[in-house]
Order: sequence, then structure tokens, then C-alpha cells
Amino acid sequence: MNFENSLAFATKMDQEDPIASIRHEFAIPQMPNGDNEIYLCGNSLGLQPKLATEYVQRELTQWATLGVKGHFSGDFPWMPYHEFLTDGFAELVGANSNEVVAMNTLTANLHFMMVSFYRPTASRYKILIEEHAFPSDHYAVESQIKFHGFNPEDSMLLIKPRDGEEIIRHEDIHQLIEEQGESIALIMLPGVQYYTGQVFDMQSITQLGHQKGCKIGFDLAHAAGNILLELHNWQVDFACWCTYKYLNSGPGSIAGCFIHENHHQDETIPRFAGWWGHDKKSRFKMENQFKPIHSAEAWQLSNPPVLSLAAIRGSLDTIKKAGGIKVLRSKSILLTGFMRFLLNAELSHQVAILTPHEKELSGCQLSLAIKQNETGKEIIGKEVFDFIETQGVTGDWRHPNVIRVAPVPLYNSFEDVYRFVQILKNALK
Ligand SMILES: *Cc1c(COP(=O)(O)O)cnc(C)c1O
Repeated sequence: MNFENSLAFATKMDQEDPIASIRHEFAIPQMPNGDNEIYLCGNSLGLQPKLATEYVQRELTQWATLGVKGHFSGDFPWMPYHEFLTDGFAELVGANSNEVVAMNTLTANLHFMMVSFYRPTASRYKILIEEHAFPSDHYAVESQIKFHGFNPEDSMLLIKPRDGEEIIRHEDIHQLIEEQGESIALIMLPGVQYYTGQVFDMQSITQLGHQKGCKIGFDLAHAAGNILLELHNWQVDFACWCTYKYLNSGPGSIAGCFIHENHHQDETIPRFAGWWGHDKKSRFKMENQFKPIHSAEAWQLSNPPVLSLAAIRGSLDTIKKAGGIKVLRSKSILLTGFMRFLLNAELSHQVAILTPHEKELSGCQLSLAIKQNETGKEIIGKEVFDFIETQGVTGDWRHPNVIRVAPVPLYNSFEDVYRFVQILKNALK
């Protein structure tokens, strides 16, 4: 695509965008003057789909009018409600429908997955994780290691970028697995790195890890709804994701989990169990003998929060209306590509883009490090961030020096991207 640096070009891209109208299916926050914000923060909290509002309201009405009978009444009874999300999740992460389930929250699921898939022995006890993993993931891994009586000092194997670099090189990950694989019990990496936006090569990491006998889990918080995934074919053991980022299901909403069907029949896998994981036919016999469902659903504990599931269902239906994740990804490549083009054309001296430029190594998000202003004076990134916020740009600031912006194909326009770069340019004057 030959991009052009003009508002007219951005407008033309919007006119030719086959899914431009999906933006109207979302509530877009407004500035005090009534203009829409340029919302570039879908990597942190996605916007509200109108269908989410409608579906949540509908379950509130069911509750008001039916009480407990809502469990079994209407088109979407609460009892099997999580099943209405299965196909949507499966398509997003490239899974069979028996391999995905909506349950708990992200960090909770990481713990439950480690209960099943981190089973350290005297010779194989390490967890490979990034040095600068999202803190919750770090805490979860560290506490699991301690819980098993091992020492995080030598049990957490930390991978990081080389000195002076921002991006972790795949050759370094491969080498580490090659060298220490025999002592690694679990590899737990992100699909998309939250700070830099780097996409990891999940297929090669999984393949290499399995050759060495390791289990592989991915945190897909920034990947689900953003990039194309093929968890089943890649043979990933498990994956966890939250749904409030690119999946637009509202703050703190219930999370998603993938467990490869290779593990569904394995009776030796330890699991923290609850009644919602028990065989559906005999669940209400209330017997003491746990009989797991032979699918990812076996890992469920509780009857899930239906209002939250309803919001996710609204979001998944909106994604379907747009034509699915492949259509979104195609637009995303153009939208983020356009932003990169404009930043390079206008601000290459002032702003460094940390996110790798290769399509395979990046998704919606660009992570921008501010270097200097127009006159070459060093300036403080946080001040720039605060300024653009007053101009209607919502992005997010990540300590120590990064502005993350994520144009989202569902609700951002090429004009949003163009206007954002102009505002950033003004901020750097
Ligand atoms: C957003 C995010 C989390 C948040 O975890 P919750 O349990 O949903 O609060 C954890 N890990 C990563 C990598 C994230 O991006």
C-alpha cells in the first residue's frame, strides 16, 4: 500500500474501508466540546459495543421478570450461557470449540493452568518467562514456584532483550530453550508483549519447547482479538486471555482459557476442581465423586457471572458482524501501517517506534518513545502525553518512557490516525 501524508488520503481510506460503519456500533467517549475522542486505548480497555449494552440489559430483564427460572428460560438460558461464547472464542484463538471456555479472570486462570501444567521435579523445575513480564504474570509464576517449595532465584529463567535493545530476539529464546530445555518445566510467554507490542512466534517456541519436553502456555491478553492465532494447530498446551482489552467486554470482565484437547482425557493431570467442571448430566445429583467434563469446561469452578458473559457475547457478535478476526486483522495492518508511515514521515527524529515493523512481529499497538522536540531539546515523554490528552487523544502511558497507542480496526478510523499524528506533532513543537 502506498500511503500518502494527507487528511484527504485518510478520508479516502475511510470511504473505501468496507467495515468503516462498524464504528457506529460502539459508544465512543466524547470531549467536553462534544467531539469524539481519538480513542487509541483499546489495548487497555476496549470501547463498549452497543450490543453488549443490549445483551446485558436483556439478562437484567430476564432476572427481573423470571427470577431463578432464568436459568432455563428463553433463547439464552443462564445454565449453559458460557456455551454461547464458545464458537466465537474458538475462532478468535484458532481452537476447536471443546478447547475454549470463559471462566474466572486472567491471573486466576494463569494460576489454575499452572496447577495443571507446572509440575516441577528435582531435575525439571524451571519456568521460562520474560524478565519484564506484566507484573501479575511475574507474581503468579513466582508464587507458584514457591508454593511447590522451589526457589525463584534459580527456578525463574528470565529472558530479556540484549543490552541496548528493546525487543527480545527469537534466536535468543530458541537458544535458551536449546541449552536449558531439559530443566524447564513450563514456558510461559506472551502472545503480544504489553510494553513493546512485539508479537512472539508462538509456533516455533511451542515446537522447540515440546522437543525438549517442556509444557507451553501463552498469555494472550494483548493478542486475543488483535492478531491471528492458531493455538490448536500450533499444539500450544494452554493459553489465557482477558476480554476487556481488544475484546471490548468491559472492565474486569470474565476471561477466556484454552486447553489443548491433547489433555482432555488425561486422568493424571492435577486440577483444582469445582462443580461447574463436573459432568453436566449428573452435576445436579450432588454426588461427591468428581466426574470431569471431557473438554476445557472441566477446569471451570463456579457458575459464571452471566452479566459479564452477556457483554462478551455482545462483543463477539459485533466482531462477527464486522466479518471476523481475519477481516479485522487486514484492516489493522493498514491502520497501524498508516500510523507508522505518518510517524516516520513527520516525526522520525523526535519519536522512536519500539514496536518491530515486520507484520509478523506486530499487531495494532505501536509503542512510542519520545526522544526530543522539534528543536532537538530533550523533553519528557509524560509531558507530551499529558498534552495530547488535553487535545482529545486517549492513549496510555507506561513507565518509564512509553506512550502506547493502538488503533483498533473495529472503531478507529484512518482519520483518527491522521489527526493523532498531527496532535503529536503539535505537542513536540
Ligand atoms: C492486562 C494484563 C493482565 C491483567 O490481569 P487481570 O488478572 O485481568 O487483572 C495480566 N497480564 C497481562 C500480560 C496483561 O496484559
